[in-house]
Amino acid sequence: MKKFLPALIFLAAACKQRDYNADLLVKDAVVYTVDSNFATANAFVVTAGKIVAVGNADTLEQQYTAHEVIDARGKPVYPGFIDAHAHFYSYGLALQEARLNDTKSWQDVVDSINVYARKNTEGWIIGRGWDQNKWRVKDFPNKAKLDSMFPVRPVLLTRIDGHALIANQAALNLAGIKPGQTIAGGKIETINGKLTGILIDNAEGLVKKKIPAPNDQVVQSAFLDAQRNCFAVGLTTVDDCGLPYTMVNTIAELQHKGALKMRMYVMLSDNPESYDYLFKRGVYKTPGLDVRAFKMYADGALGSKGACLLQPYSDQKNWRGFLLSSQKHFEEVAKKLASKGFQLCTHAIGDSANRVMLKIYASVLKGKNDLRWRIEHAQVLSPDDIKLFGEYSIIPSVQPTHATSDMYWAGSRLGKKRLKSAYVYKQLLEQNGWLPLGTDFPVQDINPMCTFYAAVERKDLEGYPKGGFQPENALSREEALRGMTIWAAKANFEEKEKGSIEPGKFADFVILDQDIMKINGASLPGVKVLKTYINGEKVYEKK
Ligand SMILES: [Zn+2]
Repeated sequence: MKKFLPALIFLAAACKQRDYNADLLVKDAVVYTVDSNFATANAFVVTAGKIVAVGNADTLEQQYTAHEVIDARGKPVYPGFIDAHAHFYSYGLALQEARLNDTKSWQDVVDSINVYARKNTEGWIIGRGWDQNKWRVKDFPNKAKLDSMFPVRPVLLTRIDGHALIANQAALNLAGIKPGQTIAGGKIETINGKLTGILIDNAEGLVKKKIPAPNDQVVQSAFLDAQRNCFAVGLTTVDDCGLPYTMVNTIAELQHKGALKMRMYVMLSDNPESYDYLFKRGVYKTPGLDVRAFKMYADGALGSKGACLLQPYSDQKNWRGFLLSSQKHFEEVAKKLASKGFQLCTHAIGDSANRVMLKIYASVLKGKNDLRWRIEHAQVLSPDDIKLFGEYSIIPSVQPTHATSDMYWAGSRLGKKRLKSAYVYKQLLEQNGWLPLGTDFPVQDINPMCTFYAAVERKDLEGYPKGGFQPENALSREEALRGMTIWAAKANFEEKEKGSIEPGKFADFVILDQDIMKINGASLPGVKVLKTYINGEKVYEKK
């Protein structure tokens, strides 16, 4: 009798495992786990919203009986995509406003606004997305036409980058803006003693604060519309870079109701109320919402010439842009956050803004650390400053589509020499050995495939330029995929819970129609998401 015992124990163990019920088995897939070895598998199992096993379908089918089985029919599966830098809520609001992204001239903008105003007959006329760099006449527009069409109704049209806007006289009147008026960290444009309607960076707030606050319905629609579009491109987590603290409850409630399933990493705006709120309550963390970071703006954007440069712009004499706050303010915030252990994320585009922030970060961080303080964009850098990212473990958070949408005109702003040390994603990756990627949508398209394509090919959708823009700073496909998944998670302190398909992690994943690790570069932007899952639940399926 004794000698049969080991066999019996083995049998019992096997039976016990077969009894195990799983929620979901995904099989016959090419699963890019994005684990530390970048291993692939062909199946995985999900229970209670989490991945419990990854491996071979034959083995897993023996071990697990799943309620639902997805046969992926050989399609590739990736961890759900994470956008490390976006403006999710603003994007959602913009879906309800006039969309000006495809306008080809100022007249085109005016015509679009006319159509919008006929459909939306009351209140402010708000639009977003114009970009004079795409027009034949590349100067900023002037409000004259808006004034004659809308003498009473306020109009506010934000530039694509969010760092400049044009307002009509009715809107300027509500804000009490007068010719010659100045503002720290901003610019109120006046030509020949007259307001043009162009407001840059901090000047935008003067008019924006006069817009009536959106009601609950508008806010909810903004989140849910944004979510719908983002699921369709495979996003399962978005970093919202700069929200008022009052939004934390709004998001938490929408998630609690089950309406908002998108996971969000929220950076709070740089104002006393935000600091008070989070210092008092501490890190806010649920599976769907993570609030532990603050967002500051060091400068503006290159397209609207608000980026702060060490030397004058190559296309504007004696103009270097400006910082949006005093260095003293930046230092105070940095010290305050370091003492409390929170994360600081600072927007810095120009080489001067980057230098100011890198030096402040360095003085507070002192050396290698794990506070994961981020510089958002890290766009134009003095070659001497790049090493500071590595020396002080500062995380550059970059958006590859910025390189390919700015490449047409960035050279005229910066000149040849400075352009060489702009959009240097490969060099930045080498600093810490990892690099989170994002889009900055609605400044860029929401689609992670555009990010992937821009990162690896450095070309626009027409395949221009042939060899890629400054191709020495292209990323490998593995690096780009890590940047959109596990490295983006790491930038949010979430690498233990998401960003790869490994046991113990949230079952957030996407099934694509083509394998982005294998197809030719030109086909990448056309790749479609077939299904998106969050917590093992299907939140999108391609019709
Ligand atoms: Zn941004």
